[in-house]
Amino acid sequence: MNNRMLVLVVEDDKSVRNLIVTTLKTQGYRHIEAPTGEEAIVQAASHNPDVILLDLGLPDLEGVEVIRRVRSWSNTPIIVISARSEDADKITALDAGADDYLTKPFSVDELMARLRATQRRLAYTNMSVAADACFENGALKVDYAANTASMNGEELHLTPIEYRLLCLLAQNVGKVLTHTFITQKIWGKTMESDIASLRVYMATLRKKLDRYSDGTQYIQTHIGIGYRMTKL
Ligand code: CA
Repeated sequence: MNNRMLVLVVEDDKSVRNLIVTTLKTQGYRHIEAPTGEEAIVQAASHNPDVILLDLGLPDLEGVEVIRRVRSWSNTPIIVISARSEDADKITALDAGADDYLTKPFSVDELMARLRATQRRLAYTNMSVAADACFENGALKVDYAANTASMNGEELHLTPIEYRLLCLLAQNVGKVLTHTFITQKIWGKTMESDIASLRVYMATLRKKLDRYSDGTQYIQTHIGIGYRMTKL
């Protein structure tokens, strides 16, 4: 895997920024830094980084505003770093187009794991442009053309909603999807009752996946936030 990725580190706390930058250097990543939201937008526009690590609590702009502005022209993966007090903002950030999140205090190992996962997802996305008729992840296979899904070669008998949920997770493999994002995509709206139904659909979808899987958890729950399909 190519580690020469360019990472934009957006963080106003100098000690945290130094910790991240030092870790990136030892792992062979290239980096640029921004201590404010305005500077982050300028750096993102002029250097086109491969990944953005974004602190949500910035002195000038809301981190969420940075995401909205960057998203207006770029699909660069954004990993949000938030303090616990910013939990609500974290969900808003994911809805605005952030790809993943870390909660402070975080371990550098966890940060590196998230970066690697983002790299794998990027590699997968680039690859799948050519071969988009079929999705494969571990023992799971989705055949978009035939509208079928299978696990270890066994066809999964999914309801239309379960199948759409599975496709949505597959198309965003490795990425955390919020309840709001999912219910908007599936039902076109978000009400409390939709989120409750979503839980039920996810539970039955999981049960069907688990029936033929070797114990691998394909769908991860992020409590209070949403779901993610693990990229194997
Ligand atoms: Ca901060």
